Amino acid sequence: MPGESCFKGLDLPEQPLVVVRQRIMKIARVESRCECQAQLVAELDEARSVVRGFASDRARGRELSAPANATKKIGDKQVDVGWSCPMCTRNTLRTFNVEALSYH
Ligand SMILES: [Zn+2]
Repeated sequence: MPGESCFKGLDLPEQPLVVVRQRIMKIARVESRCECQAQLVAELDEARSVVRGFASDRARGRELSAPANATKKIGDKQVDVGWSCPMCTRNTLRTFNVEALSYH
């Protein structure tokens, strides 16, 4: 059927692949414990920007939003992640090795 082969010809993979790549953004999660024992968590995208920061309160089974930001260091081997802890209002800064981040 000629109409069918024409339709297949239009179905090029180029554009849909780009859309899929944008939707499946890989995220790495870094965690650290605040001095008040709150478990601080940040999710970083592949550009090492914070997608989401929160403090995990496992005792109460809830998550509190924690403003977080990431600063790339010289050489791009390390990233500093700073949280504003929602439990004790401390600013907690931790350095993570970029090569140790596991994206999934
Ligand atoms: Zn704290």
